[in-house]
Amino acid sequence: MHDIAAMKKIIITVDGWSSCGKSTMARQMAKELNYIFIDSGAMYRAITLYFIRNQIDLASKISINHALGNITLSFGFNPMNGNNEIFLNGENVEALIRDMSVASKVSEVAAIKEVRDFAVAQQRLIGRNKGIVMDGRDIGTAVFPEAELKIFMTADVDVRVARRYKELVLTNPNIMIEAVKENLETRDYADSNREFSPLRKADDAIVLDNSRLTADEQLALALTWAKECMNG
Ligand code: C5P
Repeated sequence: MHDIAAMKKIIITVDGWSSCGKSTMARQMAKELNYIFIDSGAMYRAITLYFIRNQIDLASKISINHALGNITLSFGFNPMNGNNEIFLNGENVEALIRDMSVASKVSEVAAIKEVRDFAVAQQRLIGRNKGIVMDGRDIGTAVFPEAELKIFMTADVDVRVARRYKELVLTNPNIMIEAVKENLETRDYADSNREFSPLRKADDAIVLDNSRLTADEQLALALTWAKECMNG
């Protein structure tokens, strides 16, 4: 038995392609380790929701900076489901940010340097005391390049599409699997080809391909790596 509380507190980053199950695994890891879990994608999605609602002109740096000045993001624990949910200016937007209208715009918004600087500053602040699992695209490369454990998740594209479709169809029964696939591929392309902090595997990240792993199997593997790092 490991006494987790007595172990060294570390930063764990989980990056990878869209719909690999990064957030699910990161959330489970944080729960097991009694760490904070942060879904950095939710931050970019909430900013995107604000930009859509307020019709922010993405070509205007002045409008973008002004909008960012009016955005406060926070996370709050939901005791009903045990999740850490995102709040935009005090409003719980966790469900709204999963909508396709946000998904189809988020990569464009996340490619803007000012938006990234805004989100990364908050992410670093949240992680300053370590004891955190954060998932996203650039967490191991740009946000916490010094993290003790970096995991890069991947899975076959059809497996990822099927998983995301299953999730989205619960709230949107009319959604087409082709649209889900298109969104996923478009985001992956945009995220890995953008100018600032593109998605890529950090040189010191461990690759976790979960195409043929169950959620329990991948969690067990990741926790073994985490405990090795926590033991120094
Ligand atoms: O993780 P999720 O799919 O919710 O992320 C939504 C989008 O947010 C990504 O497709 C990407 O454009 C952006 N993102 C990012 N950097 C992160 C996390 C997410 O650019 N660290």
